[in-house]
Formats: sequence, C-alpha cells, structure tokens
Amino acid sequence: MKIIDKPEFTTLIDEKISSEPRDVVGVQDDGEKYVFDELETADDLALDYDVTMLSPKKYIMPQRETYLEYQKSNGDYEWRAKTNPEGKVIVGIHPYDLVAIEQLDKIFIDTFKDEPYRAKRENSLLIGVNMQKASETAFAGSMGTATTDSGYDLLLTELGDRYAIEIGTLEGKEFLAPAETRTARSEEIEEVNRIEEEDIPDLFENELEFSPDELPTVLEENYDNMEFWEDYSENCVSCGTCNLVCPTCCCFSVEMTRDLDGKGGKQTRRWDGCLLEDFAAVAGDENFREEKAERHRHRLMRKGRYIYERYGDIACIGCGRCTSECVPNVADPCDIYNKLKKEMTANAQ
Ligand code: SF4
Ligand code: SF4
Repeated sequence: MKIIDKPEFTTLIDEKISSEPRDVVGVQDDGEKYVFDELETADDLALDYDVTMLSPKKYIMPQRETYLEYQKSNGDYEWRAKTNPEGKVIVGIHPYDLVAIEQLDKIFIDTFKDEPYRAKRENSLLIGVNMQKASETAFAGSMGTATTDSGYDLLLTELGDRYAIEIGTLEGKEFLAPAETRTARSEEIEEVNRIEEEDIPDLFENELEFSPDELPTVLEENYDNMEFWEDYSENCVSCGTCNLVCPTCCCFSVEMTRDLDGKGGKQTRRWDGCLLEDFAAVAGDENFREEKAERHRHRLMRKGRYIYERYGDIACIGCGRCTSECVPNVADPCDIYNKLKKEMTANAQ
C-alpha cells in the first residue's frame, strides 16, 4: 500500500488530464447530483460523494453505440465492424460499481466475446475510492459490495490530508509512478482495514434482513406469488428508469438504419429496459410480459436469481439508484426482497 498527499494526487490527475491520450473522467457535483463527467481540472473531483446518477458503466457500454456499417459497392454490400476502442481514465468509482463492472465483464467479455465492450473495458483505467458517504437508499453493506479487493487498477482510501492507495494492476502502478508516494506505515494499513471493517458498514441505513446467498431461493419460492407481484407493481408507470440507472442492467436493443440515398446504413445498439411495456413484444402482436406484474417479477428474478444461476453473481449490488429515481417509489429491491422473505417464512409456517 502507498501513501500520497492530497495535493500530490491533485497534481498527478492534472498532469494526466493534460498528457493522457485518453479522456480523464471523474465524479463531480453538477449542482443537483453527483455525476461522472469529463474532468477539466482535478479540483472538480468530489470524491466524498454518496452516489452518482449513472454508474461508470456508461463509458464501457454507452447508451447508444454504432457497431456495424455497410455500403453498397459494385452491386454488393460491404459490411464493416465499427468498434470504438476508446477507453477512459475513470476516477472515483465506489466499490459496488467496481463489482458491477466485474459482473458485466463476465457477460460481455468471458461469455459473449463482445468486441466493442472488450476494447473499451481493457483500454480503461479504473481508480476506485472507498466510500465516505452512502445515499439513504443504498444497501451495499448487506450485499457484500461496500468494499472490494478486486476490479480496480488503483483504490483510494481517504486518510485526512492524504490517501492510502492500493495498487491492483501493473497499469495502475505505472499510472501512479510519476507521483511522489511512500510506502504505508503499519498504523496506516491498520486504519484502512478499520475503515473498511467498521466505518463503511456503518454508513448504510437500508439493509437486507437476510443473507444475499438466500436470494435465489427466496425468489424461486415466490415466483408464483402473483398477488404479491400485482400489489407491488400497481403504481408503476413503466417508465424504465430503474433499468436505465442500474449498473448491472445490460440489455440492449438493436436498430438497423438505412441512409436516405439507399447506398449504406448502420447498425446501432442502445440501452433497453425490461420494465418498458414493449420490451418483450414480438411479431404477431404478441408480448411475453404484457402485465406490469410480470415485468416486475422478471426484473427482480433477473437481479437475484437468473444471473446467479448462469454466472454465480447476485446482480443487484445495492447502490440504491433505482429506489431514489423511481417517482412512485416502487422500485426498491431491498424492500421487495425483505417482504418476499417474510412471505416465504409465513407460507412455511
Ligand atoms: S418501478 Fe419505478 S422506475 Fe421502474 S419502471 Fe416502474 S415507475 Fe419506472
Ligand atoms: S437493482 Fe437497483 S439497487 Fe440493485 S444494482 Fe440495480 S440500481 Fe442498484
């Protein structure tokens, strides 16, 4: 573990902003919310934030992305992959968002070999920061994602006038190399451990009342509990916001558009959301999840059961973004899971 004084860290980031070929982005206060955005100066960093509006997923899996182009030439069509390999230096990622990116890596890199995702992910440098605040809707403490020992190139922990830095990769080490740092003393290492074990778990007001390991079973047992799903989804307006702000939601829709002259076109993908009414609509006027209750059940099943069964991960990392952005206040997975657990216990008696 290394120690860097805060002014030295600011100087390092400012130097990277002017010298890095990649964009340097980081958490900033835009006046209303915390957001990840391009940094003009390291002074704009707000590393003591609670939660950002969107997660850094948006840099690796952009909201809209063209990945295929075609041109008509000599009576035939020429197709060209249009991979954007541009990565970013991303400063200030909370551990739960690092965990979310690791989950996406399993899906897009290890399983689907998705080249646009892989290129941006592998060309990005992730600088994490241990939480100093939590939003009132977050429950990462009980999901085991409030701290992490993987998924970052560098991980900062605030220690007053300095940061402790854990180095996760060789690239992280090289990024840090121009700065003046020193090796952490044993009491500084102990302080970081104490912050991770005592202070960070104490930040959360919201919590899952049982182990997340039980979630797949709790959900399976409640799959046919339609009364619950109908009650709970009654006030949902199917806006899809809970999907769009979620760091682990990764469904996308594909569109093919043709140029007006008919000589070429492109294929674009954009974020989609399973809470939207037409998400499961198919040809023939069929919709596999026509009812709100079915769409809600699907969202929660996917977070706590389906992804677990396929990849071994609980795909809700407890950031609380869906809860805070849902206008009718019906998206809180923590509340839903706690209620489902109570339903399961009551049915067993
Ligand atoms: S649960 Fe809330 S955020 Fe999600 S679709 Fe329904 S109203 Fe929108
Ligand atoms: S379901 Fe909600 S709390 Fe869970 S990861 Fe997604 S946005 Fe965060």
